[in-house]
Amino acid sequence: MKVMVLGGAGYIGSHVVKEMIKAGHQVTVFDNMSSGREENLFDESAFIKGDILEPINLAEAFASDDFDAVVHLAAFKAAGESMVRPEKYSVNNITGTINILNAMCDADIKKIVFSSSAAIFGEPVRLPIDEDHPKNPENYYGFTKLEIERFLGWYDKLKGIKFAALRYFNAAGYDVDGEISGLEQSPANLLPVIMEAAAGMRDKLQIFGDDYETKDGTGVRDYVHVSDLAAGHVMALNYISDKNESLTVNLGSENGLSVLELLEEARKISGKEIPAEIVGRRPGDPAKLVASSAKAKEKLGWVAKYSDCETLIKTSWEVYKGRLDKLLK
Ligand code: UDP
Repeated sequence: MKVMVLGGAGYIGSHVVKEMIKAGHQVTVFDNMSSGREENLFDESAFIKGDILEPINLAEAFASDDFDAVVHLAAFKAAGESMVRPEKYSVNNITGTINILNAMCDADIKKIVFSSSAAIFGEPVRLPIDEDHPKNPENYYGFTKLEIERFLGWYDKLKGIKFAALRYFNAAGYDVDGEISGLEQSPANLLPVIMEAAAGMRDKLQIFGDDYETKDGTGVRDYVHVSDLAAGHVMALNYISDKNESLTVNLGSENGLSVLELLEEARKISGKEIPAEIVGRRPGDPAKLVASSAKAKEKLGWVAKYSDCETLIKTSWEVYKGRLDKLLK
């Protein structure tokens, strides 16, 4: 298929592009490069610089070829920031997605794979979290993703656009073949923060609370390898295309890892001390989030293959260690 990947130069987007190319799709990346990295682009894909907030950019990009499908990962994703700058998230995530859907209507593109998030669920009322779990986002970022899922439902009903909404749990790790090495700028997520502390790019890790009711008192999350997520996009696109029906699934490893477990594994693999201090809880952080991915397995045959603690850390450390080695040369 001819696939337009919006946000394809970003952290998750670049991994998705790689899997799409591997699966034989013809890929065009569309990215405004606000957080995307040039080094994340592949020679095998075309590139269009454009912004989802400019409908004309989308119209021109969609008119540049005969696209069969759109994969949409062009979004802001910092939950904390979304609570202080909701306007930014309203415009980029919500208005941007409406622009995309409207441009798809004009260009007669009938398939979209969308990055949704476990943030739509909010504080869990039961674990593991399956697709039917109540949806009460705790942060504005999660709210934008939930609203977009609802728009997708309406555009399916009214315009026949089939969608796959993929609710990622905590994306982590780097390409298992070592082909993607673009670092995220000013990351706020746990694993890149640990990696930056290991590589001397920041002083220390701050651990947000050690008094949760979890195995060791620190927050537990379901970390899912970005290469596993990327494979899920290819499978989901095939599914909506073959069945001509929309699909909403959780993508998680079904395995809960604590902050301390990741830190210890990172110390072991990197051989670095990785200074860390316990600080207070971060507002809005649930104690524990773990996915049920039974539906993804049943519908797509998807299972996480690379989401064990060791592979998550090893593939990340390869990239950060590479940076460190270059600096030391
Ligand atoms: N966390 C932490 N220090 C950091 C970043 C995150 O202790 O610098 C903890 C956070 O409280 C949570 C887990 O790590 O328990 C994952 O947080 P992250 O921001 O990566 O993802 P979230 O689950 O919030 O989407």
